[in-house]
Amino acid sequence: MPRYEYRCRTCGDTFELSRPMSESAAPATCPTGHDDTVKLLSTVAVTGTSPASGTPAPAPSGGGGGGCCGGGCCG
Ligand SMILES: [Zn+2]
Repeated sequence: MPRYEYRCRTCGDTFELSRPMSESAAPATCPTGHDDTVKLLSTVAVTGTSPASGTPAPAPSGGGGGGCCGGGCCG
């Protein structure tokens, strides 16, 4: 059973719950009893995207080249 991480917006605590994937989007209650929680990224399905560590994507700034947003890969 996958584990999902949640964060309580009331007390700021983070906690994990083991629940079936069908219930991954169901409301979670923090250990303290608050129900204003948000689901964080799964700790088991990490797929390479590392935030806040440099610029991984070589973005050709300046425009004029085109190709990406015209070809449909951005859609
Ligand atoms: Zn809480």
